[in-house]
Amino acid sequence: MGNAERKYDIILLDVDGTLLDFGLAEKLGMAAVLRAYGLEPTGERLALYHDINEGLWSAFERGEVTKDRLVWERFQIFFGRLGKEVDGHEVEELYRGHLDRSAYLIPGAMDICRYLKERYELYVVTNGTSSTQYKRLAASGLDGFMKDIFVSEDAGSQKPQKEYFDYCFSRIPGARPERMLLVGDSLHSDIMGGNAAGTATCWYNPQGKAGSPDIKADYEIRNLEELKDFL
Ligand SMILES: [Mg+2]
Repeated sequence: MGNAERKYDIILLDVDGTLLDFGLAEKLGMAAVLRAYGLEPTGERLALYHDINEGLWSAFERGEVTKDRLVWERFQIFFGRLGKEVDGHEVEELYRGHLDRSAYLIPGAMDICRYLKERYELYVVTNGTSSTQYKRLAASGLDGFMKDIFVSEDAGSQKPQKEYFDYCFSRIPGARPERMLLVGDSLHSDIMGGNAAGTATCWYNPQGKAGSPDIKADYEIRNLEELKDFL
């Protein structure tokens, strides 16, 4: 720790795109699904699935579709576009199996969790499906660093909603948001969420994307190692 006086007691960590590589998990999982249905996993097909899936999750965030429906409907739409009729539930089960076993670490994730755990209490704050997130964190070995894991599905709300953070804070003994730092890769979910919940925020921005004038993070890093400079 660089400073004699510590500013935080608790670090809240996002999972996808911050500790685990979801993009890679999706790509490899969908490639396996396509092959199982006798289709070559071309870049074009993977991109098409990605867009359909993203579109449905946005519709979910707007309250236009339920999660239970989107997880199978995405595959019926996708395969329909490829001219193939499938049972969406069956594809979802197959895909989910691949996703559950996908624990591809972001470079430096294991090392930084080990470092931080010596100094802070760590909690996971993640949007996603509860059983999948638990399995992926266990498979990666990251779960052992965490005091607790808060998944949006269990909370019944999600980042950046205030209700989601209320749910987390009610489960953190002696929670003081002003003594917490939230680290995440999404300006919309993590940084906006942390701002609304009253925590400090650190934007993990490995690709150096342009920021937003409306969403301010207290820190910005290109690789996880940089957290050691101020924590
Ligand atoms: Mg993320």
